[in-house]
Amino acid sequence: MRIGVIGAGAAGLSAAYDFTRAGHGVTVYESAPFVGGQASTIEVGGGRLERGYHHLFTNDTAILDLMAELGIDGSMRWIPSTVGIYTNGKVYPWSTPFDLLRFGALSLRDRIKLGMVAKRLQRMKDWRSLEGVSAAQWIRENAGSSIYEKVWEPLLRGKFGDRFENVGMPWFWSKIQTRFASRDRLGREKLGYPVNSFDEVFDTLVQRIRSKGGEVVLDTPVTRVLVENGTANGLRVKLPDGTETEERFDLILATVPSYVFPKLVDLPDAYLEKLTSVEYMGAVLLILEMTHPLTSIYWMNIADREVPFLGIIEQTNLMPAELYGGSNVLYLPNYLDRHDELYLMSADDLLDVYLPYLSRFNPSFDRSWITRVHHNRVSAAQPVIGTNYSQRIPEHPTPISNLFLANTTQIYPEDRGTNYSIRMGREVAAMMLKGT
Ligand SMILES: Cc1cc2nc3c(=O)[nH]c(=O)nc-3n(C[C@H](O)[C@H](O)[C@H](O)COP(=O)(O)OP(=O)(O)OC[C@H]3O[C@@H](n4cnc5c(N)ncnc54)[C@H](O)[C@@H]3O)c2cc1C
Repeated sequence: MRIGVIGAGAAGLSAAYDFTRAGHGVTVYESAPFVGGQASTIEVGGGRLERGYHHLFTNDTAILDLMAELGIDGSMRWIPSTVGIYTNGKVYPWSTPFDLLRFGALSLRDRIKLGMVAKRLQRMKDWRSLEGVSAAQWIRENAGSSIYEKVWEPLLRGKFGDRFENVGMPWFWSKIQTRFASRDRLGREKLGYPVNSFDEVFDTLVQRIRSKGGEVVLDTPVTRVLVENGTANGLRVKLPDGTETEERFDLILATVPSYVFPKLVDLPDAYLEKLTSVEYMGAVLLILEMTHPLTSIYWMNIADREVPFLGIIEQTNLMPAELYGGSNVLYLPNYLDRHDELYLMSADDLLDVYLPYLSRFNPSFDRSWITRVHHNRVSAAQPVIGTNYSQRIPEHPTPISNLFLANTTQIYPEDRGTNYSIRMGREVAAMMLKGT
């Protein structure tokens, strides 16, 4: 069979890898000039760094198994994480249960309650009973408004903007599950990172696909899925020289966001409604290369609405600066509506907005520390997973025969991530091959 794949991110490449392993002819079309999608990298100080911060948890078994299968699992490094939370003008360590007990922004009673509520969620296995309730409502009712307002509301708001009240409780439950799964008996969290960056995973997949005769074509967006009598049978693509061409395929897998998919193919109303009912937050990231570290923390949550970014992810507090030519590297992320002023701002203007706040995290900070700035926007960074979400997930087989969809809106109840896109890409590949 000839199989066409739209998108060379984690889902598209892992599916394509399985198609070629099963002996089929595959062409992957990618609109960007690079592979890896949201987990793709840029050059920083001679090394590779993700456009958006990336790490793995110990229960990310789909990507870890794939790395082992590809023979690159030796690249994984597991590092005790350093987590902080900034609130009331102060940075509090937030890495272990003992840090929680020392968290002075809450009363002792609330600290104990917060720990107990988190533990209760960790032990709870039936997320379906949480489907009908929003995270905001559940936390308020079960942890109280002080804990909600001081800790969780700013974090939910940071991730989901004005839509934070809509987020379903299963999303929050799955976050707690993942973070606890990556902790040892003393509650210390370990995070994983492939020392050669996530690029190694994608590059190795591309090599394997090509070694079996498959193609991965960059800079070549799909502009139309060709359909005849309700059956998809080809793709129209735009070549780098601007001309368009059509290729015939027996099966097609699209891994594009739900708002892109209907632009490629006409779909029946019921399916279209599922696609359009899920909104995405965009993400905008400034990556600073600096002469000095800003903090000693890898993952700084910011629970203070005055600060105009959502966190500080200091990569070189997880991995050594030598990987990046000796530079200290940090991300200043924001999840925003794609029409938000900050999302649309130029890198220079955004830096001007952010700069006055950096000295809150290190009073010695000086602008001269910054040697280089990178700017990245991701339009479909985070689907907004609302209440009763399971009823809104579009099916992988679309109403058009031989056309399948695998994107991050179909990952549930877990939060989206490379692990789950790889798991989904491989599951949908198996589903597609089984059905033929
Ligand atoms: C800021 C940020 C931080 C993150 N942190 C983590 C983390 O710590 N750990 C983790 O595991 N995950 C993390 N993720 C999530 C992870 O990166 C994604 O869930 C995963 O990479 C999605 O893979 P995908 O293949 O499903 O989609 P994508 O990566 O979006 O791939 C879809 C591909 O389709 C291409 N495409 C779109 N339209 C067309 C077209 N018409 N023709 C051809 N190609 C097209 C796109 O260019 C893209 O390459 C993070 C994401 C962001 C944005």
